[in-house]
Amino acid sequence: MITFPVLFINLSSILLICTVMLAIWRSRAKTAGHQLMVASLFMFIWAIGSFGEMAAHALPAKVVWRNFTQIGVFFTPVASLLFAIAYTGLGNTFRKNIARISYTFQGIGILLVATDHWHHLIRSRITLVRTPLYETLIVETTTLANFLISCNFFFLVAAIGLIGFHALTTTTNTRKQESSVLFGMVIALAYSMVKVVTSERFAQLVPISGIFALSALFMLLGLLRYDLLLIPPLAREQVFKFVGEGIIIAGPDGSVLDTNPAALRMFGATIKTMEVTMRSNIPQLFEALQNQTYQSFSFYHENTYLQCDIYPIKDKRAIDVGTITIVKDNTEEKQKSDLLQYRAERDGLTGLYNRQTFIDLVELRLKENRGPMCLIFFDIDHFKLVNDQFGHMAGDIVLRSISEQTVRRLGPLDLAGRMGGEEFAIYRPHAHHDEAIAWAERLRADIANTEFTFAGTPFHSSVSIGICFSEHEGFDAVYRVADEQAYIAKAAGRNCIRYLVRN
Ligand code: GH3
Ligand code: MG
Ligand code: MG
Repeated sequence: MITFPVLFINLSSILLICTVMLAIWRSRAKTAGHQLMVASLFMFIWAIGSFGEMAAHALPAKVVWRNFTQIGVFFTPVASLLFAIAYTGLGNTFRKNIARISYTFQGIGILLVATDHWHHLIRSRITLVRTPLYETLIVETTTLANFLISCNFFFLVAAIGLIGFHALTTTTNTRKQESSVLFGMVIALAYSMVKVVTSERFAQLVPISGIFALSALFMLLGLLRYDLLLIPPLAREQVFKFVGEGIIIAGPDGSVLDTNPAALRMFGATIKTMEVTMRSNIPQLFEALQNQTYQSFSFYHENTYLQCDIYPIKDKRAIDVGTITIVKDNTEEKQKSDLLQYRAERDGLTGLYNRQTFIDLVELRLKENRGPMCLIFFDIDHFKLVNDQFGHMAGDIVLRSISEQTVRRLGPLDLAGRMGGEEFAIYRPHAHHDEAIAWAERLRADIANTEFTFAGTPFHSSVSIGICFSEHEGFDAVYRVADEQAYIAKAAGRNCIRYLVRN
């Protein structure tokens, strides 16, 4: 006896499970899609069997349907476990063996039930109970049957355990998707338990097909979302975890949704503190995340030189849904390129700018800010004698010492270069006439007062300085004047300053 509402609910539920199965069939190419298809097929058999049993009148017909149901009852948990293994990749190498053993084992249970000869090993008694509310078969089970039923619970709990464990050890994003699968499985487990506890009486009121449709739907949702990046999820997970580049996934408002371990290492943060670290330490990056356009920039973060490439992510309707940022630690490359640049721009002995760099930099400055400036040129006096008397090494020491004394006196905007053998130039913008002469005088005196000792013999060195003051002239003209003035200083007896004001 089956009432219209019960019939309606059951048929709708079966329709629902068919729809979900169709969706699973379409997604069967996804990782673990095939396994989910098998599991949902057994759920379907279970649901159809239950409905058939409910609709049948006589006891023998009900028993036939109950036997059919057993295929689903015994195989759904095994299929669920195999799905969990394929989905998480945990124990994947044993999947085929686990499948063979568990299907054979549970298959024996089904065969025993279906044979006239052996079914007493599983069921000790079957009675049909009819009440105004429900009509159901009450099956008294043997110890062997109870053992097999316990195995079913074991398989389901193992499947849930696998996904739960994986969800706990994975990234936040994947965890959300795995929770969906987990929820689907827990519904099936909970329902199976309720059925055992209430000896089937409950099945009439809440149709099993409805419960399984829901369960399969949640599992499918998890499966689809897990496969979001369209590469096998396990590979994606591994790449995310182990790639050397940092990866930051952010929402449209710049909020950090997920971060891989490399990014956390680079920023010295945890998943929880990542957003705060970025907001307070690297506001430029946080702003870029909110802008959601492709951007690439580099910056120093606690002695590491990081390069960020920010790629906007769009959904199918081309609407911005967030960003993926790839962070590279370019500290080593930056150090190398800085060193190369330093070597190309500087003189190896003194560390001052070489002639060409000095000229380029001064010309650039003259273009940017015209105004009063002075160019100081100096040449070491009788330097050839130092080399001749004490050797080239002594000459190098003098060159270095004079350079150091010059650099020590430079202001933040001043530039100094080694223009040739023992000739140097200094560019001083905004230098006031008297102050600049006093400055050069102090430098001259410092150098002249420095005592060098080589091979036990003390000696002094000096420089002849020429200065050109100018407001409007280009580098060549100013340099020529300063050089001429130094030449005049040489002629005037060396170790002195001569200057000319040009305007
Ligand atoms: P003056 O006072 O007229 O400038 O005489 P000077 O001897 O300094 O001038 P001169 O141009 O005759 O000699 C410059 C010397 O500087 C010759 C060269 O060997 C020496 N010199 C140039 N570059 C270097 C260097 O890198 N190291 C050393 N030790 N000597 C150098
Ligand atoms: Mg010279
Ligand atoms: Mg000289």
